[in-house]
Amino acid sequence: MEKICVAVRLRPAVNEETPNGNGYHWEVENNRISLHKSRGTPISGVSFAFDHVFDQDCRNSRVYELLIKDIIHAAVEGFNGTAFAYGQTSSGKTFTMNGSETDPGIIHRAVKDIFTEIEMTTDREFLVRVSYMEIYNEDINDLFAVENQKLQIHESLERGVFVAGLREEIVNSADQVLDLIQLGEVNRHFGETNMNARSSRSHTVFRMVIESKGKDNNSNNSSSSHDAIRVSVLNLVDLAGSERVAKTGAGGVRLKEGKHINKSLMVLGNVINKLIEGAKQRGHIPYRDSKLTRILQPALGGNAKTSIICTVAPEEVHLEETKGTLHFASRAK
Ligand code: ADP
Ligand code: MG
Repeated sequence: MEKICVAVRLRPAVNEETPNGNGYHWEVENNRISLHKSRGTPISGVSFAFDHVFDQDCRNSRVYELLIKDIIHAAVEGFNGTAFAYGQTSSGKTFTMNGSETDPGIIHRAVKDIFTEIEMTTDREFLVRVSYMEIYNEDINDLFAVENQKLQIHESLERGVFVAGLREEIVNSADQVLDLIQLGEVNRHFGETNMNARSSRSHTVFRMVIESKGKDNNSNNSSSSHDAIRVSVLNLVDLAGSERVAKTGAGGVRLKEGKHINKSLMVLGNVINKLIEGAKQRGHIPYRDSKLTRILQPALGGNAKTSIICTVAPEEVHLEETKGTLHFASRAK
């Protein structure tokens, strides 16, 4: 049985409410989110409970404390971990992962905490590597090096599953990582021209690989567990927008993008469900059905820690997409 932590986050209203709406709105109470009609009448059957539900006033610091901090701590101790932001475009995925000037996101907080923990762990030495990639139309592109496009996934006995040619930077401080991420963000938005920005149609995976081994403090260091090398992989994933492409109007490039996104999110949902169904089934887990799940495979399942933050928009125009996201989140419980 995998324990995957699932949370929903409702962002504040940023769009004008449609003037002739029906008064539908979402209310958050403890770990439950429910649809209401004007004047507080709950709509029966449209109410969902999760490990956590964050309302519009919740800050990234709280999301981090409740969902991510444990994963980060475990990663420094040698356990794999993955956190996802899932939701339609404009629901707050990137805000959650990257944050703002006044409220840094999960990635920023994770990077800071990792180096703080490393500094506090005086009996081990660490090697930390980071990479940042985008999956767009099932192509893997390197966000640290724009020339590295359409990278291939390989598998070897020694390295397991890996992305060949992906730039991995060895890093020594949080600031160094944050500078690299900024470079990655510039590359991520390269060539974007409009609202239908490419960044909302690609998955991005920020990865840290943390290696450590015990320091030789005494001379009789005959292979105690103290000396064992630990390697953990931490993935922080900003998924492509989960909205359905409109059947009408979407042709050519947009339609192709939509199909790839829908498929990879569906595969991700299937993989997560299989992991939750767990050992009793011991069935086949379809990691190979998409690039995203293939890349994440080493850090999903086993004794890896996983959190999913499903972001939703409060506006009535987004009602159907919000329901869709809550259904996805419910399947992941
Ligand atoms: P997505 O990445 O899902 O497409 P964004 O993170 O870009 O969505 O969010 C859309 C807009 O809403 C941005 O302007 C963002 O700053 C704002 N926003 C999202 N979530 C929050 C939040 N929890 N608090 C304040 N502003 C938010
Ligand atoms: Mg985004």
